Amino acid sequence: MFDNLSDKLDAVFKKLRGHGRLTEKQIKETMREIRLVLLEADVNFRVVRDFVATVSDRAVGQDVLKSLTPAQQVIKIVREELARLMGDGEDNSLKLAAKPPVSLMLCGLQGAGKTTSCGKLALKLRRDKRNPLLVPADVYRPAAIEQLKTLGRQLGIEVFDSTINDKPVDICSRARRYAELNGFDTIIFDTAGRLHIDTELMGELKGIVQAVAPQEILFVADAMTGQDAVTVAASFNEQLPLTGVILTKMDGDARGGAALSIRAVTGKPVKLVGMGEKLDALEVFHADRMAQRILGMGDVLSLIEKAQAAVEADDAAAMEARLRKDGFTLETFLEQMQMVKKMGSMDSLLKMIPGAGKMMKQAPGMQLPEKEIQKIEAIIRSMTARERMDHRILNGSRRLRIAKGSGTRVQDVNQLLKRFVEAQKMMKKMQKMGPKGLKGMLGR
Ligand code: GDP
Repeated sequence: MFDNLSDKLDAVFKKLRGHGRLTEKQIKETMREIRLVLLEADVNFRVVRDFVATVSDRAVGQDVLKSLTPAQQVIKIVREELARLMGDGEDNSLKLAAKPPVSLMLCGLQGAGKTTSCGKLALKLRRDKRNPLLVPADVYRPAAIEQLKTLGRQLGIEVFDSTINDKPVDICSRARRYAELNGFDTIIFDTAGRLHIDTELMGELKGIVQAVAPQEILFVADAMTGQDAVTVAASFNEQLPLTGVILTKMDGDARGGAALSIRAVTGKPVKLVGMGEKLDALEVFHADRMAQRILGMGDVLSLIEKAQAAVEADDAAAMEARLRKDGFTLETFLEQMQMVKKMGSMDSLLKMIPGAGKMMKQAPGMQLPEKEIQKIEAIIRSMTARERMDHRILNGSRRLRIAKGSGTRVQDVNQLLKRFVEAQKMMKKMQKMGPKGLKGMLGR
């Protein structure tokens, strides 16, 4: 995400670093460079103009000129202003406190990620102990209703029964009554999208807003489309009382234009971000953390939260109990690997660690462990239960059988066992540190 933008800003700041003190001229030159970098990242030109003006004022006004560490001062100002641009300090939580059922409506162009986001949002709400109902109100694209029904089935979340012969406003009103009668506390409306904005669609969306008075009207914007997404958001915002934005496809190589401009142009906060096609890839948006990521400072807080969410309390408790009972075996080793896998791709996790993004780039060809984990899984799954409980019985012929069974080589099996023995040693050390040691590592 935003790799290009991060690299270029880094290059701008690098030039400042060697200097003891900065002159006004140097600051001006820096501001000119920041301006170009932001424009190249497809940030709205008015937003860039205002941003650079604010940063310049602060840089000249504050003691950057006198400071002995001017580069850090400039970076600090840029970080704070980037965060502010994206809505730092504002409340961007979903408004769910109203008397149930609370209605959330998603709108946007076709392909932006509405239907997927509806599914993700339903899952997120259920994890927060709510009881959501999904409502397909896109009757123009027959596949849209089916897509939402499939998502619902996958998630075990009910999808209101509508057909392409129904009128969208009727569907939404009926769904609301259905939710009231059947104890759903949250309704998520998936509305129709088009390739372009048209008045008919807007009329229909307005009708739905009137009929169900949603607490949230969220515009779904594809971050990959940069300024186009911002322009469309502005038109939707003129016609509908939007309450916020969901930025999707932030896992891709979006340049940053949408994320940095949409709040300033529409005045509406980004509430959630889509970070992948999987249904758990929806995150709460934090402007300050996003600014840090853009400046290559990593995002340790999100990393810890992600780790905590993945290693759900019951997973961790089950693991602890098993460790106590059986000790650290290949079976527990495999479980640990699976927990790591659950945390999402290593790639995206590593990028949140300060400096790690850069380190990865400097080590080309460094293989990401995702494939390794698959191999390890295959090997351990080819073992008998007894072998998994006690690796010491794994003699040559057993190793050969396991390699054949898992489609790997004996060297791979040997390497895995070596790794396992090392992990076992580490576990012993950690167990000596007591349960606090393990929990401390997870940041609890
Ligand atoms: P809709 O027409 O607005 O309902 O869009 P869909 O929900 O059908 O999504 C369009 C495509 O974008 C699908 O292939 C989704 O898998 C993909 N998509 C949606 N959100 C994300 C995201 O956050 N990251 C990535 N990589 N793909 C996404």
